[in-house]
Amino acid sequence: MKLVRTAEELREVLDPDRPTGLVPTMGAFHEGHLSLFRTARAENDLVVASLFVNPAQFGQGEDLERYPRDEERDLALAQQEGVDVVYAPGADEIYPPGFQTWVEVEELGRTLEGAHRPGHFRGVATVCLKLFNLVRPQRAYFGQKDAQQAAVLKRMVRDLALAVEIRVLPTVRDPDGLALSSRNEYLSPEERQAALSLPRALRARDPSLLDGLEVDYFEEADFEPRVLAAAVRVGRTRLIDNVVLEGET
Ligand code: AMP
Repeated sequence: MKLVRTAEELREVLDPDRPTGLVPTMGAFHEGHLSLFRTARAENDLVVASLFVNPAQFGQGEDLERYPRDEERDLALAQQEGVDVVYAPGADEIYPPGFQTWVEVEELGRTLEGAHRPGHFRGVATVCLKLFNLVRPQRAYFGQKDAQQAAVLKRMVRDLALAVEIRVLPTVRDPDGLALSSRNEYLSPEERQAALSLPRALRARDPSLLDGLEVDYFEEADFEPRVLAAAVRVGRTRLIDNVVLEGET
């Protein structure tokens, strides 16, 4: 496995003749990430994972500084899953001085998560478009856990006629039902127990099960597939999850 940090190094290890799968991540890998790596490995000749905690998708007062980072561990896990290349750029590489070009998926990016995290999807869409341009993958892999992110990116790909297939894979959960998330690391044992009401409420389609938690939204959304999506705060930690209401993920 190769670790590269610049566009130039990346170009040296890519091969336009090899079908390439890209898995964009912010690191702190868990089984959700690993399932994306495995599927990308099975479906492509060359597998690239990007590892970049994207400042543009964090709002003021969010958890950019304390977001979990452990590059050494992540590299070992990526290697175990057969990833060929990890692209881990610095912020200057993605946002060089003078950077001022942004992608805005207007309506889809303003609802639900977008309403509670203004600018979040602008940051996501922009970094993903840049990664698609740098890596030129045939396929890019995302998790259903972030259903609106997947919807926003599919819309961007259609609207801008990008030559990449967005592959969305099912949400991986702990045995107790909690969706895996890098942010679960923030939870104390008591908070983790309280957080279990999120998947329970979604499964039961019953927001009253969230009593005691601060609820940002608990709403159906027509994301292809249609989902029931929710965001809650447990202490200082904000968690999102969703269940698919119809169709396949
Ligand atoms: P992140 O590093 O949190 O930005 O996530 C990188 C990718 O992994 C995104 O496409 C997420 O949707 C996906 N992902 C995160 N958590 C899960 C999960 N529990 N199951 C499946 N995919 C996930």
